[in-house]
Amino acid sequence: MSTLFIVGGGLFGSLAAAYTRHKGMEAVVFDCSCAGAASPAAAGLFQEKWAARRLQPYYHHALPLLERLFPIQHISLTGDDGSTETLLFIPPSAILEPQPIRQLVTSVGDGWLEAGGQHYEGWVYIAAGIWSGQFLPGLEVYGKAGAAFLFAGEREGRIHQADANRQCLAFVRDRGTTYFSDGTAERVYTEEHDRLSLRRAAEMGLTEPIGRLWGQRPYVPRGPFFQRIASRTWLATGGRKMGTILGASFARQLVEDELR
Ligand SMILES: Cc1cc2nc3c(=O)[nH]c(=O)nc-3n(C[C@H](O)[C@H](O)[C@H](O)COP(=O)(O)OP(=O)(O)OC[C@H]3O[C@@H](n4cnc5c(N)ncnc54)[C@H](O)[C@@H]3O)c2cc1C
Repeated sequence: MSTLFIVGGGLFGSLAAAYTRHKGMEAVVFDCSCAGAASPAAAGLFQEKWAARRLQPYYHHALPLLERLFPIQHISLTGDDGSTETLLFIPPSAILEPQPIRQLVTSVGDGWLEAGGQHYEGWVYIAAGIWSGQFLPGLEVYGKAGAAFLFAGEREGRIHQADANRQCLAFVRDRGTTYFSDGTAERVYTEEHDRLSLRRAAEMGLTEPIGRLWGQRPYVPRGPFFQRIASRTWLATGGRKMGTILGASFARQLVEDELR
């Protein structure tokens, strides 16, 4: 049986690795720790209503895989009017490959890749986020950047409507800290975006951040992208604000329908 070699240990690559192993096959993940990777910054939240109608099938396809592989938590956030909203949550730290091979994949072909001067043969899954375009000419993947901030201590989960189009979330993503994100997603990101996000955090009583998590969400113009690009090589990206759901749906498609 072939091994699945994965380029990228973000949510997309790690979900594919986890599901491949769950099905009794071998998976090896390469990740070169590119600055600006999206997954370490992700809140890890999802809910059906975040999926526009055209993305609903991905949600329903992904959920059984996520339920099988991870404990899904329910996070209650209190709104400005005292009402509560419950979201589903899997911390990215529970999904992300703990020890990928820390090497840059330099080239990929049909059923092979090269990294660290070595040649590997098997199935290949390219899940390289905004860097995926280098492996498929013509793929117009681009990033929309945003920063999340960490604050000391565990505060009550809250959701705050900053303006008509912007919801700010604060909750305990990782023990001992409070994670804040206002959903900023910009193609051209400047320091001013950081300042605005921190001002919104301060409106929720969160000041003096102890950490900044900056990442580029991958977008592809015609929507999330999954394609067999050679007989034994696949590429998936375009996770936008729904990396957990889209990564899981594509992992399921790869493992259940393609690897044989
Ligand atoms: C602030 C913020 C909050 C978010 N919140 C959520 C949320 O609550 N829920 C949700 O579902 N989504 C959320 N997202 C979106 C989510 O993070 C992305 O959709 C998802 O992480 C994309 O995953 P990916 O694996 O495709 O890309 P990435 O996470 O960018 O991973 C790609 C990986 O490929 C590696 N790589 C690239 N090229 C090579 C190479 N040649 N060789 C080896 N390795 C390579 C990089 O180092 C990188 O680690 C959020 C994003 C941000 C920025």
